[in-house]
Amino acid sequence: MQLLDGKKTSQAILDRLKIDVAQRLASGKKIPHLAAILVGSNGASQTYVNSKVKACNEIGFVSTLIEYEEEVSEMKLLDKIQELNEDMSVDGILVQLPLPKHISERKVIEAISVSKDVDGFHPENLGKMVLSEPEGFVSATPYGIMLLLEFNHISTKGKHAVVLGRSHIVGRPMSILLSNNSTPGNCTVTVCHSKTENLKEICQQADIIIAAIGQPEFLKADMVKEGAVVIDVGITRVKDSSKKSGYKLVGDVDFENVAPKCSFITPVPGGVGPMTIAALMKNTFKACAENE
Ligand code: NDP
Repeated sequence: MQLLDGKKTSQAILDRLKIDVAQRLASGKKIPHLAAILVGSNGASQTYVNSKVKACNEIGFVSTLIEYEEEVSEMKLLDKIQELNEDMSVDGILVQLPLPKHISERKVIEAISVSKDVDGFHPENLGKMVLSEPEGFVSATPYGIMLLLEFNHISTKGKHAVVLGRSHIVGRPMSILLSNNSTPGNCTVTVCHSKTENLKEICQQADIIIAAIGQPEFLKADMVKEGAVVIDVGITRVKDSSKKSGYKLVGDVDFENVAPKCSFITPVPGGVGPMTIAALMKNTFKACAENE
């Protein structure tokens, strides 16, 4: 079994971006600028946004963090997005999800300029991904997973990939990317969700499993065939009084028992999480280069 080290792979990507930023600076070009919007005080969202801002600082991007109280109106948020869309100094805009219930995520996502939508959630960018058009933005988590497979030379051609979860931000785009005529890609893909029958038997046939359902330790050893590649996207905070924070992060895979059967497996934390950030940084760099 080999660990697919997202932290190490992400660091290699960030190191490369740092050099690219320095080169842009040396040739008098604009430095990438990411604007992040955080609404409310959800602990997990705060952690994710802080990691994104930290990555920006580490590689020399400019970052702006805009924070609102939970009660902020939808209109105020949409006005801010419009302002950022028109601000030539800003290359990428991200709004950390989930948003409070009184705000329409769909409206917010669609308000972001397609050319600054570095999270790749806008329907136009999703459409470009489906059509394999290179100028769009692929959403950060599926893109990060594709980068992880690519950097670690995981063979995907002709393999049966099973994607657990069909969300618009992870499962669905992941299934499309893996089925594309590309490298990585060229998989035969099965998408499973909460209504799937015989899920265990389907997983048993998989060469590659992408688990993105948000159910701690759902994927058990008897669902995985020998030599499978397992990518664990899930992150759930589970109470743990032995931790200073009072919780631990648990993936969708029963890592301890599944890992010995795998050829490759991602840990949680330190797998897909850091890759999501690396992919977001790559998208922001791309937005900057394309917007000039
Ligand atoms: P959603 O809640 O939007 O989607 C979950 C999907 O899993 C749905 O399609 C749902 O099916 C399916 N599902 C839920 N329970 C089961 C079950 N028992 N059997 C089969 N399918 C099931 O989640 P997200 O896609 O946003 O996130 C998934 C996980 O990934 C979460 O833990 C999240 O925290 C994590 N995540 C991690 C990121 C990272 O950077 N590492 C980034 C984004 C998410 P149905 O459609 O039928 O309801």
